[in-house]
Amino acid sequence: MEKRCYLLLAVLFFFFLSPVETRPSSGLDINLTPSTIGQGEVALLSIQKLGEAKPKVIWMGEKITLLSDNKNEIWTGFIGVDLTTKPGRYKLKINLTNNNNPHSITVSVLSRDYGIRRLTLPKEMVELDTNTLKRVLEESRRMKELFISSDEYPLWMGRWISPVQGTVVSPFGCRCIINDMERSPHSGIDLKAAEGAPVKATNRGIVALVENHFFSGLGIVIDHGGGIQSMYFHLSKDFVKVGQLVEKDTIIGLAGSSGRVTGPHLHFGIRLNGGRIDPIKLIEISGVLER
Ligand SMILES: [Zn+2]
Repeated sequence: MEKRCYLLLAVLFFFFLSPVETRPSSGLDINLTPSTIGQGEVALLSIQKLGEAKPKVIWMGEKITLLSDNKNEIWTGFIGVDLTTKPGRYKLKINLTNNNNPHSITVSVLSRDYGIRRLTLPKEMVELDTNTLKRVLEESRRMKELFISSDEYPLWMGRWISPVQGTVVSPFGCRCIINDMERSPHSGIDLKAAEGAPVKATNRGIVALVENHFFSGLGIVIDHGGGIQSMYFHLSKDFVKVGQLVEKDTIIGLAGSSGRVTGPHLHFGIRLNGGRIDPIKLIEISGVLER
């Protein structure tokens, strides 16, 4: 009887605690780490496959960009979930080129409680006049356009790094209540950074935007290709131009307190296929990749 119990426990452990790993007959070997994804989080997909053809991966209706190793044997990419994606079970479809019978695995998206942040700001920063409201809407439209027009070709390589040394002073995802009114949740992290502290590119990419916006102040957006962008807001100075290719670690500007802020810091955000992702998770998850 006891033996049976142990056997059952071992089977349960294998099915529920080990990362998702499958070896279908197609010669694919799929790994997702971690095997479940929380709202606003990201997982690393690794596909080991025999043969030259590049696998095609579809997640929540979007094509996932994969990078290969030198031998075209191991393909890696990031699977992300927006902050407000409904928790549940979603299919990750993986297909070999010219194969009409995709392999699919089910991935659980878990609910995350990011807490609440209450802020009190001067009235003129919250209650916008008609002209300012017009400006804010136009800036928001321009920003959203960038997230759908990412270059298909991936420019990023290896690990993702923090743009400044500072600790997180305001975490990702918290519901923002300004002067008792609920606003959009925090779509990035606020990192401690003194006025004038150098800000580095989190990875390789092309500068997609350098603009002064009402809320985000002087901001830079880098398109890393393959549907991934990074954002750096409230800067005091920029050193890059739109269209410029920047390497990981390049100083792109200086931290500051431009836009709607209560003091100097760096707002750092990541979008993955348009979804708002916790940058800390991307940095952690990509730690297993080469520098
Ligand atoms: Zn922020």
